[in-house]
Amino acid sequence: MVVSTTQIGLPLFVLGQSKDPHSERGVDCPGELPPASDPALVQRARRAKAALGDRLFVLGHHYQRDEVIQFADVTGDSFKLAREAAARPDAEFVVFCGVHFMAESADILTGDHQKVVLPDLAAGCSMADMATFDQVEECWEVLEDAGIAGVTVPVTYMNSSADIKAFCGRNGGAVCTSSNAKRALTWAFEQGEKVLFLPDQHLGRNTAVLELGLSLSDCVVYNPHRPNGGLTEAQLRDAKIILWKGHCSVHGRFTAESVDDVRERVPGVNVLVHPECRHEVVTKADYVGSTEYIIKRLQEAPAGSSWAIGTELNLVKRLATMFPDKNVSFLDKTVCYCSTMNRIDLPHLVWALESLAAGTLVNQITVDEDTTHWAKVALDRMLALP
Ligand code: SF4
Repeated sequence: MVVSTTQIGLPLFVLGQSKDPHSERGVDCPGELPPASDPALVQRARRAKAALGDRLFVLGHHYQRDEVIQFADVTGDSFKLAREAAARPDAEFVVFCGVHFMAESADILTGDHQKVVLPDLAAGCSMADMATFDQVEECWEVLEDAGIAGVTVPVTYMNSSADIKAFCGRNGGAVCTSSNAKRALTWAFEQGEKVLFLPDQHLGRNTAVLELGLSLSDCVVYNPHRPNGGLTEAQLRDAKIILWKGHCSVHGRFTAESVDDVRERVPGVNVLVHPECRHEVVTKADYVGSTEYIIKRLQEAPAGSSWAIGTELNLVKRLATMFPDKNVSFLDKTVCYCSTMNRIDLPHLVWALESLAAGTLVNQITVDEDTTHWAKVALDRMLALP
């Protein structure tokens, strides 16, 4: 089965069964998915991986389950993994244990001869799905009508679909990650007077206010579900940065109260959060940074220090295991996994690997030529950032 980005508007929507096209449930694998209770799953994955040898390269995002991450040839955040995929031109199959937009980025950055596979097609990203191509086109028309599209530079977070990245490429904009958002926004403000930031309002606001020194009143939020984004032309003209009304359903759960609460419970705790968290959480935290920054911070932390981490739970649990000499806890009291990341489980990985080993290409993610070209333009602008 080949899934082309251009054939589908929203990756998640097409994945439900035909009776319930808006549901992610009941996604079929075109084959025999092994039961999760099969005690031989680990052995089967090892065997299939060994049979594929150098033809296979497995990428594992930090938020993946341990049962899956153990089979990754390399682990990292979405950007690191896309670059790792691009650096392996000899691998015929790139199996991406992550979510849909990451597999798209890998397809954009790898050669035509390489096949990118997502073990479960229902592994989308709710944040990426909050900005569809049609909505973003409509927003751009609103900016044109307000007379500001010509001075606005679109910047999209890596966590967006390939066609949103391509939109930015076509319109003089770029992609950014949570590690280089400051540099990307600085660059964008050198190209134009305003920035349209997609799709994560929190990363956009946190970067603009805390790193670039803009004020909260320089930011407006464009709501794609309201006429003209819910903004007047005057509001759009006065704004320096137009934030898309999107967020991460995992990082958006942390609250200012969870920071207060952990400080009361754990004396001397260091609060370390991801910039996809809300502004009031980030301003209360001690440290803010990307997934790679969070890992590095903990690596460098002194033994015996206490850390409350505001990011996805699989990673926090892994960090607690990796650094037993430090007191690592989860910032929130409630469980907070990324449900779509968690869809990639061992049965799906075994199924994908065994299928490939048996000569059947499954769940290939492809991005069409035009989208690839313009998305790459936006990605290359990011890579050229000073
Ligand atoms: S953690 Fe948030 S941004 Fe990352 S894949 Fe899950 S929903 Fe998307």
